[in-house]
Amino acid sequence: MRRLKKKIYLGLCATTFIALAAVRHTFPAVMGEEAKDTLVVKEEAPEVKEETPVAKEETKEPEKPIETVKPVAETANRVRRAEKKHRIRGVHDFNACFPDVQDVQIVSARKWGVRPVRDREQAEQRKQELVFVGSNPYFVIDKGMSHSIPYLVPRAADLLERIGRNFVDSLYVKDVPFHRIIVTSVLRTEADVERLKRTNPNVSTESCHRFGTTFDIAYNRYNTVCPPGEFRREVRNDSLKYVLSEVLRDLRADGRCHVKYEVKQGCFHITTR
Ligand SMILES: [Zn+2]
Repeated sequence: MRRLKKKIYLGLCATTFIALAAVRHTFPAVMGEEAKDTLVVKEEAPEVKEETPVAKEETKEPEKPIETVKPVAETANRVRRAEKKHRIRGVHDFNACFPDVQDVQIVSARKWGVRPVRDREQAEQRKQELVFVGSNPYFVIDKGMSHSIPYLVPRAADLLERIGRNFVDSLYVKDVPFHRIIVTSVLRTEADVERLKRTNPNVSTESCHRFGTTFDIAYNRYNTVCPPGEFRREVRNDSLKYVLSEVLRDLRADGRCHVKYEVKQGCFHITTR
């Protein structure tokens, strides 16, 4: 009995719904004001869309999204290019890239250098020709430097500072912690050459180091600059060697210097040109 009542009730509901739908379709006017408005708004929806850009044009805003999107894309590209450019690449072969032997370097040493210097006292007296090169923010003079004194002709002193600066700049753009290069040999006086000859008879008396045009920079050790108590990411000497080799390759390509990769001494032997 209950089931029958339910069926009748559902049947009546369905019939009423169909009848109302038919009336609404045939005579839309029977719908209330509220429903009408909703219908109109829905029909006019596309017009609203068209109006939006007009309003933007009036306030001169449509260009804004274009301007905003462009720089973001350009900046991203620039950052990607910079990252690519500032990656540590090194040189493909140290011997091949820094091949300037004694015969090549001595020509520039004679051209730009001073007459042989007898000893340290004489070097200090010859201030017109030689400048003292002390440790500074860009390089360190090796404390253990025993067979030479820190004097160079101004041209070579400029070159040394340029190398040190470029190295520090390169570390900065490559996001490598601050390090300084270490200068291991500078000007050899006649007294130094005599002493060296006693221990090693093969030492060349025509060494470029006698002219104040030449210096050595270690490639297997660097001076780590780290304020006390501050954490500093450790960097492999190989990575620093690659950065230094890029700096030297570029200066050599610019005609600023001769460079020899010294395997035994663990240094770059460099003469101004
Ligand atoms: Zn040398």
